[in-house]
Amino acid sequence: MASSVADDTAISPNQRLWTPWRMAYVTGTAEPGCVFCNALASNDDVGSLIVHRGVYAFVILNLYPYNTGHLMVVPNAHVRDPAALSSGARAEMAELTASFCTGLRLVMGCDGLNIGMNLGSAAGAGIADHLHQHIVPRWTGDANFMPIVGGTKVLPELLPATYAKIRAEVARQKFAAGSVIVLLMAPDRSGVCLSDEALPRLPVASDTSVWRTVLNAIAPQAAACELLGWGGASSTVSDAAELPALAISFTPSVAATATCRLWSLGEAGSLLPDDDRAVLLNAVSRFA
Ligand SMILES: [Zn+2]
Repeated sequence: MASSVADDTAISPNQRLWTPWRMAYVTGTAEPGCVFCNALASNDDVGSLIVHRGVYAFVILNLYPYNTGHLMVVPNAHVRDPAALSSGARAEMAELTASFCTGLRLVMGCDGLNIGMNLGSAAGAGIADHLHQHIVPRWTGDANFMPIVGGTKVLPELLPATYAKIRAEVARQKFAAGSVIVLLMAPDRSGVCLSDEALPRLPVASDTSVWRTVLNAIAPQAAACELLGWGGASSTVSDAAELPALAISFTPSVAATATCRLWSLGEAGSLLPDDDRAVLLNAVSRFA
């Protein structure tokens, strides 16, 4: 998987656009300590790509995915071997693997999944000291059409969008949420759509992923729309029920400009109730 700086200079600007998160990796910037322990200790779950924290284990999006939606189920304990885990940790990892396989099928629409653990660097583990279980979505033919650049696949989606899709599903199931907050932002992030002085809500169906429900509802009113990322709180651990929130770059169609008025961020901030203002501030801090 290692890629040198020399390899990277051969990537065309167009291809590099899709993999900006790899730049720290290919230029050799190493994170001190264990990346999994660092993520677990962080209080920014969005920044560290954690989508779920359990009792003995957590689930994190791979910063260097083999395929879009590549997750890892990781025990909280920094151990190399499954035998060193508590039975509770092993049981929770098995449960998380099963439920996130189901979730990835719904969210990513994948045709199959690879599940596996590489124990020790001889077996291919990149981080051998802290074991982790990979869950990699697969699509029929993906090994054939995805271009290989410098030993790493170029992926068709940015990580913040993938994170938001998965996080929205986790939040929906965790809190049995019946609706999703939709943050429609101007492409230059100067404005946002309101509905009755609040952020619009959409009902979610149980048989469709949250993100697909949102984009299907918005597309008819949009000249252009693109999922930017997660608009909710950073922490995956919350005592209070929390609606999923998705931030979307939105340009209304000519026909929809009258009903989808964009308010300036200042106007919106003064009109919105506190919960919605927090969502707006999250999105501005992440995507503006
Ligand atoms: Zn560790």
